[in-house]
Amino acid sequence: MSRDPILLTPGPLTTRLETRRAMLRDWGSRDAAFITMTAELRQRLLALCRGEGSHVAIPLQGSGTFIVEAAITSLVRPTDKLLVLANGAYGERMIEIARRLGRAVVALRWPEDRPVEPERVGEALVADPAISHVALVHCETTSGLLNPLEPIAKIVAQHGRALLLDAMSSFGALEIDLATMPITAVLASSNKCLEGVPGLGFALVEQTAIAAAKGVSSSLSLDLYDQWRGFESNGQWRFTPPVQVVAALVEALRSLEAEGGPPARLRRYRDNFDTLASGMQRLGFRLFLDPAVQAPIIATFHPRDDRFDFERFYAALAARGFVIYPGKLTRAESFRIGCIGALDRGDFGRLITAVEAVLKESDVRRSA
Ligand SMILES: *Cc1c(COP(=O)(O)O)cnc(C)c1O
Repeated sequence: MSRDPILLTPGPLTTRLETRRAMLRDWGSRDAAFITMTAELRQRLLALCRGEGSHVAIPLQGSGTFIVEAAITSLVRPTDKLLVLANGAYGERMIEIARRLGRAVVALRWPEDRPVEPERVGEALVADPAISHVALVHCETTSGLLNPLEPIAKIVAQHGRALLLDAMSSFGALEIDLATMPITAVLASSNKCLEGVPGLGFALVEQTAIAAAKGVSSSLSLDLYDQWRGFESNGQWRFTPPVQVVAALVEALRSLEAEGGPPARLRRYRDNFDTLASGMQRLGFRLFLDPAVQAPIIATFHPRDDRFDFERFYAALAARGFVIYPGKLTRAESFRIGCIGALDRGDFGRLITAVEAVLKESDVRRSA
């Protein structure tokens, strides 16, 4: 058995041994073998959401935030205006990115436990004809909340605007169907539901939108148009690619297919979530979100009582091999446990046993 810790985090997360093993060799970035691997990567990413006929896959070096920043600088022109729909830290981050880039940006906000309301989006688009792009976080990893993608995509398209979707913590598990949902760009990364290692993000961009994006980006390295032209011209990356990360992701994508694709992965995550939620509730922890808006990706829990000491709880679980995650809410005190990664119901059963033991044996309460 592996002695690696079990990562109950939204990424980097627990990966399969085969995924890590795929990194144990060197590739020349301009060699035919790596060019073939890059082509397989791009094709598999599109196929996951039926985007082959309409979109192009553009991988980019860096963490997830890099691809979000690349999409905003490359697709939102200095004369455009972005509306960000925000109900958590990742929506706020998109607002900050747009500001730093000097792009015109406005926000519609909801509390961290409330989903984006499509009707309010429609009203905002009617009220401000200057808005050209709308940005939405699919699963807000801050809390674990699932925003209603389909009705929002429909309303944005009805009003003739472009939708940028941060699907970082949903892509590969929750349904995104580019053949039926009008989405200009889907943004995600290697190290969440795809269960790869960290190091690259990717954008699936509508062909017409990327073709019109020449010279828009204010950044050289984050220019998605140039990155795309590079792949199209010779199959190569413009700048040094994270070759091992690509190899691991291609292996992880083959595993995803073997598992039965996103629907099968979602079933496994839901199973993980259910095992976690029922076990934690039995031990006296309450979920932060209403079940109606909860995605089975990451669970946010309230502390057990006023004197619950998260640092001690964390350390005691880490000593038993389980790495959990601090909370990210702006108001309520909380902590989070991820349900994604190469883990199943059995792992979550063992986690609950460990939590029970920790609560019995060690003092996870601050002194009064
Ligand atoms: C993880 C994540 C990101 C990107 O975060 P990085 O730390 O840059 O990888 C962006 N949006 C959401 C919703 C995420 O979950």
